[in-house]
Amino acid sequence: MIPEYKAILDRTTHRRKHLAEALRTLRKERKKELDVLYGEAHDHAFSQIDCTKCGNCCACLGPRIRQSDIKPLAAFERLKPQAFIDRKLKEDEDGDLVFPQMPCPYFGADGLCIVYDKRPRACREYPHLDQKRQKGLLGQHLADLSICPAVALAAKYIEKLLKE
Ligand code: SF4
Ligand code: SF4
Repeated sequence: MIPEYKAILDRTTHRRKHLAEALRTLRKERKKELDVLYGEAHDHAFSQIDCTKCGNCCACLGPRIRQSDIKPLAAFERLKPQAFIDRKLKEDEDGDLVFPQMPCPYFGADGLCIVYDKRPRACREYPHLDQKRQKGLLGQHLADLSICPAVALAAKYIEKLLKE
């Protein structure tokens, strides 16, 4: 992660309480506009953030591997799907399939994903700012405030929006 993005996360640590409050207030007071406003916050954040200069989610979060993710990843490994599951994945405490270790085994030394075109759906959707049904994603965003600089910038955008 470049220092500029690390600085965003450091500033967020100091203002975490206020930003979390803004996200809670938005969910409570702007329910009907939630998906639209998060969509705006997503666009604002990613106009300033380039994931190829970050990679923090790949370094410290493990994606859930769905059944639909297995075939392309198994093909990359030149394994049959069941062999891929047996050799490359484990079940976590919730019964989900995940990689056994972090950083992700496909996180390259250059900070890029070596299976980008075949990456799991969880990776494609993260950090979920432009997804529908934002009402159920508050807990996820609160956790991600300390991990993803884009979520931190989106929360700052939302805080400002509520003051207008
Ligand atoms: S599969 Fe790629 S995008 Fe997903 S966590 Fe691993 S390195 Fe990151
Ligand atoms: S999604 Fe967030 S944590 Fe992951 S690489 Fe992009 S900015 Fe970094």
